[in-house]
Amino acid sequence: MDRLIVRLWCAAALMAGRAEAQPSKEWPIHSRERPQPVVVDPGPGALPLPAPKDAIVLFDGTDLSKWRHVNGNDANWIVRDGYFEVRRDTGNLLTKDSFGDVQLHVEWASPAPAAGKDQDRGNSGVYLMNKYEVQVLDSYENVTYPDGQAGSLYGQFPPLVNASRPPGVWQSFDIVFHGPRWDSSGSLLRPATITVLHNGVLVQDHVTLSGPTAHYARPPYEAHADKLPILLQDHSHPVRYRNIWIRELKER
Ligand code: MG
Repeated sequence: MDRLIVRLWCAAALMAGRAEAQPSKEWPIHSRERPQPVVVDPGPGALPLPAPKDAIVLFDGTDLSKWRHVNGNDANWIVRDGYFEVRRDTGNLLTKDSFGDVQLHVEWASPAPAAGKDQDRGNSGVYLMNKYEVQVLDSYENVTYPDGQAGSLYGQFPPLVNASRPPGVWQSFDIVFHGPRWDSSGSLLRPATITVLHNGVLVQDHVTLSGPTAHYARPPYEAHADKLPILLQDHSHPVRYRNIWIRELKER
């Protein structure tokens, strides 16, 4: 290749690497007409995935000492046999510590046998910074609106594929999240971006969030701290979690 072609190729590759998707304008939020993500069998996987040495372990199988309820009470979800389970209607859990840009590993399992359908089946959620939800749902042979199924960024981005495992089988999310930034006057300098692997399969490829996630709404960004707690959602379904660890990412 001559130097011009090399330069053009490098520029194109750089632009591709920086391409940041926006929520679709073609499909309304929670559209049920939108095409369903293709089902991909993720294979057997190898869970639990041990935490790297520099990770902060948020649940090691024994207690919820790193978590509290939103109202400040001690976390009282059910802990047994190395996992914890949503105790229905007790409210969401927050980490006691706050985090900004992170790599987050979460293992979860949908209730078995499955009960309910659509959004009313194994619903929970992992919220970065208490605002940006990666949806947890039993999406194994359970149809819902694509931007609300497992691995979606709720109401903004369906997963690229449906890599769900059956109810009761452990699954994983590996999330790379860069939080938004504001200048001193509160103007947005940089929106949040997120990459998600579901059971080792890429389902969100460095997409740009339009703001906090919400039900039938895409609210705009409002300036907030550079670090906030991680939240796990109590959606009244006994979803299980285990082996949660996080690595804080340094500013590049
Ligand atoms: Mg949810």
